[in-house]
Amino acid sequence: MSQGLVDFHCHLDLYPDHPALVEECERLGVHTLTVTTTPKAWPRNHALASQTRHVRAALGLHPQLVADRSAEVSLWESYLDETRYVGEVGLDAGPRFFRSLDQQKQVFDHVLRTCGRRGGKILTVHSIRAAKGVLDAIEAHLPSSRGRVVLHWFTGSASEARRAVDLGCYFSLNAEMLRNERAKGMIVGLPIERVLTETDGPFTRTGDRPAHPADVAIAINLLADLRGSNREATGRQVTKNLRTLLMAADIDPG
Ligand code: MN
Repeated sequence: MSQGLVDFHCHLDLYPDHPALVEECERLGVHTLTVTTTPKAWPRNHALASQTRHVRAALGLHPQLVADRSAEVSLWESYLDETRYVGEVGLDAGPRFFRSLDQQKQVFDHVLRTCGRRGGKILTVHSIRAAKGVLDAIEAHLPSSRGRVVLHWFTGSASEARRAVDLGCYFSLNAEMLRNERAKGMIVGLPIERVLTETDGPFTRTGDRPAHPADVAIAINLLADLRGSNREATGRQVTKNLRTLLMAADIDPG
């Protein structure tokens, strides 16, 4: 694996020109995990990513879509053997999606159990207002020997973050989190070995345009400054963390 930036959670298929973004990541050598929100988007995302060195696609069923698309869980399962990356999955207990929370929990539990049975999967997990519920589900259904979780845009407390670390979770941090005063208090307590970076593009912005994966350089700089460490060394550490995560997930491919 080459040195290079890491964007471990973005949505390349939500930009107007999906193939151009894939090409940009490849040209700039950005290790990019592009997530899907419905398994119906999987075949095209998989096809575009599978011809690259640096871009990987993840197979997802977004918690915000579960109310309308829970029936697609069987489609999700039918594609699962095609990838070791799963996401975007998780729970969203925010006001707009709270009503489907029971349904979301059923789907998420099923996703975790199925990944645990197959083994060797890496999941990028959404946990808005649901840090405790997400960690409870991981603890119940996905031991770290059977799969690895990366908590995307984690907004839980410092003690919830410590619990996540104990469960073997990684964290993908974006520039918006790193500018948030409350989140910074949680982030400084994370073991640096568990930290990855993300943009969640196009849902975050760089200046007046949607963030592109290469913009994770901004998150690296903010993270280094927050920790009082060197920016280049921080970038190298994040790339090393990705390599460690990939090897860890291979330990027990089941
Ligand atoms: Mn996302």
